[in-house]
Amino acid sequence: SQPVLAVVGRPNVGKSTLVNRILGRREAVVQDTPGVTRDRVAYDAQWAGRRFTLVDTGGWEPSATGLQASVAAQAELAMKTADAVLVVVDASVGATATDEAVAKVLRRSKRPVLLAANKVDDERLMSDVASLWSLGLGEPYPVSALHGRSSGDLLDAIVNAL
Ligand code: GDP
Ligand code: MG
Repeated sequence: SQPVLAVVGRPNVGKSTLVNRILGRREAVVQDTPGVTRDRVAYDAQWAGRRFTLVDTGGWEPSATGLQASVAAQAELAMKTADAVLVVVDASVGATATDEAVAKVLRRSKRPVLLAANKVDDERLMSDVASLWSLGLGEPYPVSALHGRSSGDLLDAIVNAL
């Protein structure tokens, strides 16, 4: 069976948009309203001749314990069940308390963790990307899931990690 990459992060950072970008087609449901339940969250993806399964965690039900605990729990589950984890943050906002909570969980991961700095729609946001090193998850890969900017570098890193 092919390796599994779980995509985690707080709502609205662009996880589903990035999943669609990686798939090269529209399958993951992009929603401005967080917590929308979807039937299908696993997709077959391919890059540089390597096949892998992409899991968009955005469709998982938020728990009653609140957003931060819920997103951290998703990261914990992803860390235990996937072969690698892709954390998505919104570089135009910067690291939030929820992003920090997710990072805290994933810094303990024995599996590879990659950090996507999404919504870098233009060069001016590159300085905000550098600040994301503070999450302690290694190099932040700048991407614009919406416009397709730089996603090749991220995908190279993903298939090298899997
Ligand atoms: P998710 O909740 O993390 O899955 O986020 P979605 O993929 O549903 O996206 C949430 C919102 O962010 C949508 O309005 C997207 O169009 C928008 N979005 C996603 N990626 C980008 C990006 O690279 N740049 C900008 N400007 N907006 C984006
Ligand atoms: Mg989503």
